[in-house]
Amino acid sequence: MSEDAERGAEPPVPGSPKVEERRRLQPPAPTDMKSIVVHYQEIALKGRNRPYFINRLVRNLREATADLDVREVRPLMGRIEVVLGPAADWDAVKERLARTFGIGNFARAGRTALDLDALAAEILKDLGDRETSSFRVSARRADKRFPLTSPEIEREVGGRIKLARGWKVDLGHPELTIHVELLSKEAFYFFGKDRGLGGLPVGVSGRVVCLLSGGIDSPVAAFRMMRRGCRVHFVHFHSYPILSRASQEKVRELAALLTRYQLRSRLSLVAFGELQQQVVLAVPPPLRVVVYRRLMMRIAERIARAARAQALVTGEAVGQVASQTLENLTVINEVVSMLVLRPLIGFDKSEITAEAERLGTFPISIIPDQDCCTLFTPKHPETRARTAEVVEAERALGDVDAIVEAAAAAAVVETFQFPVVESTAQG
Ligand code: ATP
Ligand code: MG
Repeated sequence: MSEDAERGAEPPVPGSPKVEERRRLQPPAPTDMKSIVVHYQEIALKGRNRPYFINRLVRNLREATADLDVREVRPLMGRIEVVLGPAADWDAVKERLARTFGIGNFARAGRTALDLDALAAEILKDLGDRETSSFRVSARRADKRFPLTSPEIEREVGGRIKLARGWKVDLGHPELTIHVELLSKEAFYFFGKDRGLGGLPVGVSGRVVCLLSGGIDSPVAAFRMMRRGCRVHFVHFHSYPILSRASQEKVRELAALLTRYQLRSRLSLVAFGELQQQVVLAVPPPLRVVVYRRLMMRIAERIARAARAQALVTGEAVGQVASQTLENLTVINEVVSMLVLRPLIGFDKSEITAEAERLGTFPISIIPDQDCCTLFTPKHPETRARTAEVVEAERALGDVDAIVEAAAAAAVVETFQFPVVESTAQG
């Protein structure tokens, strides 16, 4: 589907050098180019899920641009057209599209009648006084009933432009690529394209609950799951009022940043300090970290079931810290029956950090806080906990089910929304 070098690489994040570079290469679009042609990722479109996927992407795009002057978002023969109003701020719209999962690429485009003379005339008009050392026309037909083949269309339209401007045609490495797309009733043209984030539209894959610490890893894990089409509900465990509110503030900031990718989020804040104190009193130091983690997983599972989420997500990676050896992950995993997803399991810290930097979560994650785990963490945690030992230690806590239920029930839920659309309700 996409012909540019837009495949296979890491997803670009808005503001990243790659995106900036592409931006410079593109001519500023004339203001009478009132459409945006959005191409979705072809891979996800196999089979019966196709309409579901497209409708979700259309809805997400409408929601993402709800506060901007966007007239219409409509599916149109294998692509989506976003129709801009006269007051649309192109940079703002572009930023929203660049954060919408499920988009392969997008471009600001002009729309004309299905007529090659009209198409060439509009292109020449919108090219204005732009100069280029070489160009080519790249054509696609969405409706194969059009009497000319794509190469014929390219020659026809390219010929008219060459005649008018005298530019050199270069089919291999043109400086300027003029894209034309012919549908059944209309044609689009655009100069260059922006790469989308890829992935699947948020919502098509269902809901998951991500255990979001204030650290570097878990926001990246949440982002990865959103990119696979999951809506992510965040759960954070804090030790306020034993410790400061700092971890909650950080997590709110992280949740707000991540909400720009999924538009609506919920964050459950769970008071964990008292539970940790109970663990400190009852459990030998080396086993405490595993016991905290098992309590967190149980509470998160309960919240997930109530929220009708289908999986838990963590930022764990094998061997990163003592609680993340295979032995300890096994013992931690045993307390839940829900699917646990660990999208970063095979990543190095440096790779996760690089992604957090691209995503913009890194500066928030490194703000010092009193993480609930740092205060209560023993100096020499067990790296190979055994189930029998841990179960025995947990017996000293009393009725774990009741503790878990109470903690989950007392969670405070906050909601996040982007963009914030002003209510027009009278009152
Ligand atoms: P992160 O950078 O995500 O904090 P980490 O390297 O600090 O990870 P741990 O502290 O061992 O690793 O946490 C492992 C995972 O457990 C985290 O990625 C997160 O999913 C979850 N987790 C840890 N602490 C909390 C917390 N206070 N609230 C919610 N989830 C947590
Ligand atoms: Mg952590």
